[in-house]
Amino acid sequence: MEDINLFLAHAVELEREAARRYEELADSMRTDGNVAVEAFFRQMAVFSRKHLALAVERGGFRQIPALTAEAYQWPDGISPEQFDWIGVDCMIDVNNALAIALDGERRGHAFYAVIACSTGDPEVRVMAREFAAEEAEHVAELEKWIGRYATQSSTRPADPTSEPAGRA
Ligand code: ZN
Repeated sequence: MEDINLFLAHAVELEREAARRYEELADSMRTDGNVAVEAFFRQMAVFSRKHLALAVERGGFRQIPALTAEAYQWPDGISPEQFDWIGVDCMIDVNNALAIALDGERRGHAFYAVIACSTGDPEVRVMAREFAAEEAEHVAELEKWIGRYATQSSTRPADPTSEPAGRA
C-alpha cells in the first residue's frame, strides 16, 4: 500500500469495526453480569475511535477518501466484512468474549505490520508501524485479561461430567 490516504481509509474501516465489536461485546457482558469486562470493552471502544482521530489530526490529513467495497485492498482473512458476524450471542461467556476481542486485535496488528514491512512509502511506513505498535499493546492487554480469567476458571472444582483433560 503506497498511498497514505488509501492507508488511512483502511485504518478508518478497521478502527470502526473494532469499536463496533467492542460495543457489542460490552453489551453482551452486561447481560452476563460481568461489570469489569464490560467497562474494559467500553474503554477499548473509546480508544479505537480516539486513536484514529488523533493520528489523522496529528498527521494533518483531511481528505480520507470514501472507498467503495471493491476499492479496499484487504489481505486474505483481514477484511472486516468477512468478519461481519451475525451478532454476538447473548449467552456468550467472558472467555469467549475475550477470545473474540483478541482475534480482532491480532488481525488489526497483522494488517498494519504487513503494510509496515511491505510499503515503499515512508509516510505509510511510519504510520503503519505506529498503528501496529498500538495493536500489539491491545493484544498484550487482552492476553492479560484472558490470563486472569483462565486462572479463575482453573481454580473452580472440575466438572465431573466432562471428559478427562488431555485424552482424545
Ligand atoms: Zn486495537
